[in-house]
Amino acid sequence: MTIQNNRCALNCIIVFLLLTTFSSAQSAPAPHAADAAPSATGLPYRPSLDVSAMNRSVDPCVDLYEYSCGGWRKANPIPPDRTSWGRYSQLYEDNLVLLRSILERAASDKNRDAVDQKIGDYYGSCVDEAAVNRRGLTPIKPQLDAIAAAKSMRDLAAVLGRLQFEDLGGEIMFGTGSIQDPDNSDQQIAAVDQGGLGLPDRDYYTNDDAKSKENRERYVQYVQKIFTMLGDSPAQAKTNADAVMRIEMVMAKASQTRTERRDPYKIMHKMSRAEQAALTPNFDWDAYWKALNPPPFQIVNVLSPDFMKQLNTTLAAEPVENWKNYLRFHIANINAPNLTDEFSTTHFDFYQKYLRGAQEQQPRWKRCVQYVDRGLGEALGQAYVRAVFSPELKASTLKMLEEIEKAMELRINQLDWMSPTTKQQALIKLHAIRNKIGYPDKWRDYSAVEIKPDDFAGNVRNATIFEAKRQLDKIGTPTDRGEWQITPPTVDAYYNPQVNDINFPAGVLQPPLYDAKMDDAPNYGDTGGTIGHELTHAFDDEGSQFDAKGNLKNWWTPEDQKKFEERTKCVDDQYSQYVAVDDVHLNGKLTLGENVADLGGEILAYIAWKDATKDLKLEPKDGLTPEQRFFVGFAQWDCSNERPEQLREWAVTNPHSPARYRINGVVVNMPEFAGAFSCKQGQPMVSAKVCKIW
Ligand SMILES: [Zn+2]
Repeated sequence: MTIQNNRCALNCIIVFLLLTTFSSAQSAPAPHAADAAPSATGLPYRPSLDVSAMNRSVDPCVDLYEYSCGGWRKANPIPPDRTSWGRYSQLYEDNLVLLRSILERAASDKNRDAVDQKIGDYYGSCVDEAAVNRRGLTPIKPQLDAIAAAKSMRDLAAVLGRLQFEDLGGEIMFGTGSIQDPDNSDQQIAAVDQGGLGLPDRDYYTNDDAKSKENRERYVQYVQKIFTMLGDSPAQAKTNADAVMRIEMVMAKASQTRTERRDPYKIMHKMSRAEQAALTPNFDWDAYWKALNPPPFQIVNVLSPDFMKQLNTTLAAEPVENWKNYLRFHIANINAPNLTDEFSTTHFDFYQKYLRGAQEQQPRWKRCVQYVDRGLGEALGQAYVRAVFSPELKASTLKMLEEIEKAMELRINQLDWMSPTTKQQALIKLHAIRNKIGYPDKWRDYSAVEIKPDDFAGNVRNATIFEAKRQLDKIGTPTDRGEWQITPPTVDAYYNPQVNDINFPAGVLQPPLYDAKMDDAPNYGDTGGTIGHELTHAFDDEGSQFDAKGNLKNWWTPEDQKKFEERTKCVDDQYSQYVAVDDVHLNGKLTLGENVADLGGEILAYIAWKDATKDLKLEPKDGLTPEQRFFVGFAQWDCSNERPEQLREWAVTNPHSPARYRINGVVVNMPEFAGAFSCKQGQPMVSAKVCKIW
């Protein structure tokens, strides 16, 4: 489970989410052009179990990942505009090609409905690169002028509210939004959180190794360059960049770590407005709220109080001029991808090229498809669903989901370490999980968003304001349990512990992941495992702290809790041994929830597959037994290549383990795997100490 900080490459929204997503690359930029031609009628077919992707010269008992994916990895080098490349990103790329054809048609059609007008004109305004370049800095001039006009911290508080709402940031200096009340999951309350850092994580500021120091030097150079592009002299730009770094360094040190934030109690501090304001008395909250204009509220969850206290000290320690420069930089930085080539390239060179290893920027059309997906995702998603998600596909994936739930029930009943009291609660929670497949029952209405064919910056802004208002307006309202946090074409899935629902968009239920043309073994190994993964999140080290309705409420007996923690420690120890890149080890605590879900998910998928096929006579195929096909199908979901720079970042920021360990780390704990390939004790894929939770 991660708190999504919404540090996104394009535009962001003010929102706090406690989601546990499945894939490891959801924040990565879009992939390289696929070999498939654009088509509005569907996606190119890629089989879920692809024998040509294997490397049969490797012993599966030594390295299942290489055995299953060696051929794919060799044939699929990372495209220059990607920082990693895998079967998930390949499907994501196929989706982009399909969405492009939908958008190009919507942009040029004469007889359009209201939905096509919006998505078509948004896309059309974005691909007009010449117009974007002609406008230069004009799109952010009003914001820069407002910052320049501020004379006091009081003025700046009002400006900040406006910037957060209109230009989003979501979080510049800190973040504000709505969140579910952890004590009453039916209700939305206001929330204030840490934020406002330009590097990917607070650890980038606090770590002392040579690489981290180099990252910080390069970041200051980047900030300096942005100031120069805003018109500062080189000397002034350097002074300003140093001030930004000084402010962020102090704020980073006061920020909670990602691992700390996996403890839901550490991010729950409900207080009155007066108590919240008293944490940061040097900030003019009245002026800020007035500018932000949320619905009336009394209670606010301050996720990271120490951060807000430090902010108070830093506000007094730095002159207003430095804070103004801090805001100038961040407003330019956040908007850089939507501005001229010079800005977007400078932004790319630091964030994607230097930090993550990409070699070239995505072509403009790809970036534009993603703008529409982010801004008007449930409008674009309707056309996508029509093209690729039939009622039959929905029915067959729902059936698989129900089989996996049945397996989970069986497994809970069989557990030898859990007491009947806790088991009863676990079953109540399992039966309460809401299954969401494909797309929302009710589409979001974007009629309030004005989209013009010739104003890209204005369109970005209008879509941003729409989303910010939508999130803020939730304060004081009942939780909408039908809402989706990701769009239908997204190649990912998630479990939300505060709603107790699992969500599988149409985008993740396509070949080569779910393959309707393929038999059950690889489908259960792959998509069955993903479904099991999300279900298991309801019972991982974090999800297990929420009850059936999504309230933060303990339902475990103390003895069972202790036994559970002993068992998850086994997984923590196992993954802490693994090396991500060079001498950087995985953080076993940061990745614990995902690793537990990967293991539990695959065990559930195996049980469900055996049950679903118990009356069938399964035959070997392509030299693989049905059991072997299950495990190769599993491994092939995540055939990947990653750049070392990206692996280094993920070791700090990503709650998921790298692909190799998401496969090999699971099967070493599954005797069913050893049985399928006749692996012997002592071989690398057979753990001497098997971790067993679910
Ligand atoms: Zn997950």
